Amino acid sequence: MSLKTFLADLFFPKFCQNCQKERSYLCEDCFAMIEFLPRSHYKSKNLKLLISASPYNNFIVKKLIAQFKYNPFVKDLASTLAGLIIHQFEQTEYPPPLLAKSGGGQILIIPIPLTRKRLRQRGFNQAEEIGRELSKQLKVPLVNNVLLKTKETMPQVELSKQERIQNVKDVFFCENAEAIKKKTVLLVDDVFTTGSTMEEAARVLKESGAKEVWGITVARE
Ligand SMILES: [Zn+2]
Repeated sequence: MSLKTFLADLFFPKFCQNCQKERSYLCEDCFAMIEFLPRSHYKSKNLKLLISASPYNNFIVKKLIAQFKYNPFVKDLASTLAGLIIHQFEQTEYPPPLLAKSGGGQILIIPIPLTRKRLRQRGFNQAEEIGRELSKQLKVPLVNNVLLKTKETMPQVELSKQERIQNVKDVFFCENAEAIKKKTVLLVDDVFTTGSTMEEAARVLKESGAKEVWGITVARE
């Protein structure tokens, strides 16, 4: 443990977000109650593969994500949530591009963006915070100035499948396409629901020149 971590823990003790036990945001007992998904076979038109750590209906995962996303935010939970993704990689599979040692500089992490207005309201982009932690742990650069969200969408939960596809159509814009040309992108979000958001973002990235797009999320519905 570094001195900085030691001091931070001393002055701002962490509590398990489920059982309130002191020391970490997720204690060992509660971690043991998280279910991890089997090896993924989910592919789509624009996603090479979707890898999600846990089912969203696992109550601990749901609770962690809610505490991370909704006021009062526990922003630090990003590292716990990214840890679940890394654990999933270790249990099942690392996306092969991450294992190819020749991949230096050819892989990028891109979080699903928020519109500027939404970002101002919340103060942070939850997908970007998780992406940043993954970036640190996987040593893959994160890029947040290529994929932009230019139109506001309605909350997807209230919509039918067809309406969700319409709702996200053309809401993303790729700026500086040169940065992703022929690159492998790990597209990161917190929850994968019907996939329309991720599919649309992946479409824009691929049409702008990305070689392939892998979907990476903490939870999947
Ligand atoms: Zn606990």
